Amino acid sequence: MPAWDRRPTSQLAKQREAAVRTQVVDAVAPFSPFWRARLKSLGRTATQSSTLDGLSQLPAVGERDVCPDGDPAGAAALVLQAGESGFALHAQGPVLRRALARRLARPGTYRAVVEADTRPTSYVWAGQGLRFPVASTRSDLDLVARAGARLWQLLGLTGADVVVSGLPTLPTASVQALQLGALGAGAPLLAPGDDVDDLAAALKLVPVTVLALPSATAATTLDDLDDLGVDLSALTTLLLVGAPYDDERAGVRAALTRIGVPDRCLVLAAHVPDGHRLAWAECRESAGRTGLHTYPDLDLVQMVDPETGEAADRGAREVVVTQLGFRGTALLRWRTGDVADNVTADPCPSCGRTVPRVVGLRSGALVPLLALRNGTRAVDVRAVAGALVGRADVQDFRIVLGPSARDGADEVIVHVVPPAAADPSDVAVAVARDVRAAAGLLPTQVVVAADGVLPTDGAPVSRRVLQR
Ligand SMILES: [Zn+2]
Repeated sequence: MPAWDRRPTSQLAKQREAAVRTQVVDAVAPFSPFWRARLKSLGRTATQSSTLDGLSQLPAVGERDVCPDGDPAGAAALVLQAGESGFALHAQGPVLRRALARRLARPGTYRAVVEADTRPTSYVWAGQGLRFPVASTRSDLDLVARAGARLWQLLGLTGADVVVSGLPTLPTASVQALQLGALGAGAPLLAPGDDVDDLAAALKLVPVTVLALPSATAATTLDDLDDLGVDLSALTTLLLVGAPYDDERAGVRAALTRIGVPDRCLVLAAHVPDGHRLAWAECRESAGRTGLHTYPDLDLVQMVDPETGEAADRGAREVVVTQLGFRGTALLRWRTGDVADNVTADPCPSCGRTVPRVVGLRSGALVPLLALRNGTRAVDVRAVAGALVGRADVQDFRIVLGPSARDGADEVIVHVVPPAAADPSDVAVAVARDVRAAAGLLPTQVVVAADGVLPTDGAPVSRRVLQR
């Protein structure tokens, strides 16, 4: 069989059908309290939802669906609750056979196998509008490590590469993916944290070839390291963690030139979508031009209309992830808050890998961090739009985010067009109230506009939300 990343598209599709069926029928539908209740309320069976088509018909869900009142405890309902009695039902064939054989001979070993597969042992933090824990079992961590070995391959790294990570030492999925990736790849990784003095000290100790930095702050960090006299001329790869925007990537390239790192050092991105645990990455051959490569046997990447959470097949859309084979927190059709231009199954023009690629990803675009007058916070524009879609008293709307001309503080301004018969001030009050209930913040202003003055008539939220 060809390697995992070179299989023909038809073969990948077949494998994925099988993996989706197993994940939905044997794991998520019976053992996830959230999905058990949700499928019931949608009037669907596990079997109906276990084909690619059936799965695509499920409305995508995100943190606001799981924690509707903002309490992160709701995320516990995503964690599979299997235990010993459920294990026999949801374990994969070979694992089950091995465990059952051991059960006869050594009951203690049986329990160990069950626990490795079903009991969460470690947690990372995720979330954009709120913060919630994502649970991993031992077998989940194995998947992350296995994917990590492939991440090293994608990035074109070898066991001889020395990776230093300047990511903050917080328990996040990105940090975990790098640590377990190094373990899986059998490669050295030093992770002193994001304090620039600590980072500089570490960089002076080891002959670093790969430096991993958060994409938003990488350019500044490079200049700071240069000021501290760190020599980065042996760098072959600068790994930007968190899907850089074009200006961030350009800023990093300029900083590398400024501090004398040779052009042969490539700038590549790796990104763990919010809630997920695997780092998608750009291949070395592409030098960052062909998008993020995913793991077809471990995740299914789809796109939805960010306003409705329903399947959509054109334009910039929200990226949703279904995890395959994960057993702790198990996500189906999870809304990542990322917007992308496309997910393509065409082979990568640079490396020829046949894995699906996410092209033109804008990380967290649907939950931007705004410096509002009453403090900085992430604003979930999906929730703001959700309060405006499909109402009788709003014919069209637009959401404008950005700094005010008066004092530079960010504002959330909602423009609405009510029907002719409606009282404008009643509509403004009702809209403000419903936006607060759905998104947890009051719009800075609700502007009632006359019919025909909104320029983005009927466009999806990714375009109907304007960054000023
Ligand atoms: Zn490629």
